Amino acid sequence: MDKYGHILVAVDYSHHCRIVAEKARQLASLHQAKLSLLHVLDNIPMPQMQYGTIIPLDELSDNTLLEAEKTRLIELGKDLGISKDNCQLVWGMPKREITLFADRKDVDLIVVGSHGRHGIALLLGSTANAVLHHAHCDVLSVRLKD
Ligand code: AMP
Repeated sequence: MDKYGHILVAVDYSHHCRIVAEKARQLASLHQAKLSLLHVLDNIPMPQMQYGTIIPLDELSDNTLLEAEKTRLIELGKDLGISKDNCQLVWGMPKREITLFADRKDVDLIVVGSHGRHGIALLLGSTANAVLHHAHCDVLSVRLKD
């Protein structure tokens, strides 16, 4: 089996996200791959910023909500043993930005969580579904129990 070289784990900070991140960490260690931790920021107003912008974690802004988001990501990375350089904060829509980021950074495996939605919720589409449909690389969807 070919080894993965760059694994991307997308986290939404739900209480399940550590399960997803831990699975990605184990795979990265098994494959001796680079592991990137990505959060797509979609919940604070950023009118001047274009979708897809990678937000530098080191540059201080006067937006306190944004600074809190940076700290949250860095702290999660620290807990998982992922260096700040490999923690990525992107502005936009998670369904779109996760796969675009993977394309830009030559990721060969994306790891996301999945709640295994059925019926109308599946038709409306989850983030995991969107990633599965649009990714150009392998996708591991970690089944989460509600
Ligand atoms: P959902 O379909 O919204 O329940 O999310 C399923 C999975 O998509 C999560 O477990 C994450 O892996 C990923 N995801 C959802 N929202 C985000 C986000 N804002 N940033 C990064 N990943 C996300």
